[in-house]
Amino acid sequence: MANDNVIAVLGTGIMGAAMARNLLAAGMEVRVWNRSREKAEPLADDGAKVADSPAEATEGVGFVLTMLADADTVAQAVGEGALSGLSDDGVWLQMSTVGIEGHERLVGISEEYSVAYVDAPVLGTKQPAEQGQLIVLASGPEKVRERCEPVFDSVGSKTLWLGSAGTGTRLKLVVNNWLVGLLGVLAETISFARTIDVDPEQFLEVIEGGPLGLPYAQMKGQMMIEEEFPTSFSLGLARKDAKLVLEAAEAAKLRLPLAEAVAAHFDEAINAGHGEEDMSAIYEAAKPERG
Ligand code: NAP
Repeated sequence: MANDNVIAVLGTGIMGAAMARNLLAAGMEVRVWNRSREKAEPLADDGAKVADSPAEATEGVGFVLTMLADADTVAQAVGEGALSGLSDDGVWLQMSTVGIEGHERLVGISEEYSVAYVDAPVLGTKQPAEQGQLIVLASGPEKVRERCEPVFDSVGSKTLWLGSAGTGTRLKLVVNNWLVGLLGVLAETISFARTIDVDPEQFLEVIEGGPLGLPYAQMKGQMMIEEEFPTSFSLGLARKDAKLVLEAAEAAKLRLPLAEAVAAHFDEAINAGHGEEDMSAIYEAAKPERG
């Protein structure tokens, strides 16, 4: 029988570290693994056990939670023996954003090891992750749903159970297309305001509180105006998400010219050296004085 109070978190980047802390705060026994061990080590002060390998982290646990950059990284981490050591009825909670093809590949791996697989990407960024306020888009076998709930309740404020595995990933892609488009038009709007001698602060003020005034626009717009981009969600990973959207659309023979244009802006900002900064650094590819 799996011990559902023990969980291995593979990946302690911005999101994984915050989620591990909330699982510890909820009273779970948490083992953590990260490729760069130094990023996992601070979690020992919160009570986590830092493992040297994915296999060491997952030996005998009830749950393995993956929160890594992309599908290749997840496949590599679980391929390093992470699933063979799980308890017989252990559950894999795959919470990274991996897209449709990546999701299908990871399901294939879970089947090789006969491990229950829950597709559970999240909405929310660094601060909601730290506050346990993520929204979990869960999909997977109904028979493990009840067991997963305490885990999802520890990292999020709301869990949507959406049906068979893959439904969560598809909804996440739809939300990401929305987000990518917003970010692109926000960057260009601030640049346009500056170009025609409108103070971009006035633009944010005039939309605030009304139907056009998304909190997201206030937050990211302020970063663009100040040209300071401390990372909540890296531009590099946002580019990965735009690619996942475009690949899914292409597979369904749909063109998304707006998403393509924003992806090109992402590339320009990444090539100018901003890939590790927050995705609001897309502004670097839209600002009036760019080359
Ligand atoms: P992050 O801070 O950049 O962390 C990325 C994680 O992936 C780190 O553990 C990193 O290890 C690991 N990694 C990257 N390349 C690797 C490789 N080749 N081999 C092994 N490990 C590798 O990213 P994050 O923001 O936490 O995002 C994690 C996942 O959540 C992504 O799928 C992202 O799209 C998704 N997500 C993020 C947000 C957000 O706002 N940040 C919101 C929703 C969903 P190292 O420390 O060794 O580099």
